[in-house]
Amino acid sequence: MNSRLKEKLIDIEPYVPGEQPKGEGIIKLNTNESPYPPSPRVSEALKNINYTELKLYPDFVCTELKEVLGENYGVRADEVFLGNGSDEVLALCFKAFFNSDMPVLFPDITYSFYKVWAGFFNIPYEEVPLRRDFTLDTEGFLRSSGGIVIPNPNAPTGICERLSDIEKIISGNRDSVVIIDEAYVDFSDNGSIARLVNKYDNLVVVQTYSKSRNLAGIRFGYAFANPGLIRILEGVRNSFNSYTVNTLTKILAYESGRDRGYFEMCVGKIRKTRAYLMEELSELGFDVCPSSSNFVFATRADTSCKALFEYLKGEGIYVRHFDSPRIDNYLRITVGTDREISALIDSIRHFLNK
Ligand SMILES: *Cc1c(COP(=O)(O)O)cnc(C)c1O
Repeated sequence: MNSRLKEKLIDIEPYVPGEQPKGEGIIKLNTNESPYPPSPRVSEALKNINYTELKLYPDFVCTELKEVLGENYGVRADEVFLGNGSDEVLALCFKAFFNSDMPVLFPDITYSFYKVWAGFFNIPYEEVPLRRDFTLDTEGFLRSSGGIVIPNPNAPTGICERLSDIEKIISGNRDSVVIIDEAYVDFSDNGSIARLVNKYDNLVVVQTYSKSRNLAGIRFGYAFANPGLIRILEGVRNSFNSYTVNTLTKILAYESGRDRGYFEMCVGKIRKTRAYLMEELSELGFDVCPSSSNFVFATRADTSCKALFEYLKGEGIYVRHFDSPRIDNYLRITVGTDREISALIDSIRHFLNK
């Protein structure tokens, strides 16, 4: 490639997703998917899909789907925005709401995609360090900025902040948009802050069907905000790609959203297995962050967690390790089934006894 050609091309450092290994007997605990299949209603709906409908562009209003989401989280249908996974929704939010010369704020240890979008859209940013115990420095977010994005529970720590502390950040920043990324909120005790979109016109709450709804494959995410912000988001989407929720996704997300019983059963099982995993790791000498999500973040003194990560991979067990400051001796382990987690614990024990 010649240099004149090369200088016209974008030069970016992209987000690196976890591996998607395939194969017999592989235990995949590296991308926070659910170990359980989607609701049986999803399977029923798939069987009954009228395939001729697929010749048409999708419905881009999706009123019934917005109503179900609204009912589940206590907001109105006109306070809902839908997208192709919450990564897309978050990216559109960055474009729509972070348009200042002042830096956008997010924690130093957090979802690594925020930095990538900031770079992609040329948005200045500043990282606010978490405290030593990886809890949020609430005060650090009480200053003027170009906007704020915080996941609650946080990733990859799994730690959940009190809703009153999150509200303090929202009410203390009425001049900028505060995005709360609730990818893991269904696994926490605290519940969602979504109802507050009625109270604060600067709050955006983002959620996904990839984790607690067992539907990472359909790519469905959404945001709650007051109708004024929703209209701006729709404007940004319609300046890029109008049809981000495809016909199949719309149908399957609707069915999943209506099946509260199955959803609660899966979340309940994951919470139970999470308690078991945290207890076993503690017994093996790990320091375990208190998790409110479907993964556990842990470290062990005098042990190379990177070496353990490589060892587990050799055993066909995939977990996540980040080569980042402050957390490069931690592992992030997705909560799988009880059977998967016992196999993991057996392998870790074997590694430690070598
Ligand atoms: C998984 C995750 C997302 C992205 O979810 P998708 O809806 O699958 O795009 C967003 N934010 C956080 C913090 C996540 O962990």
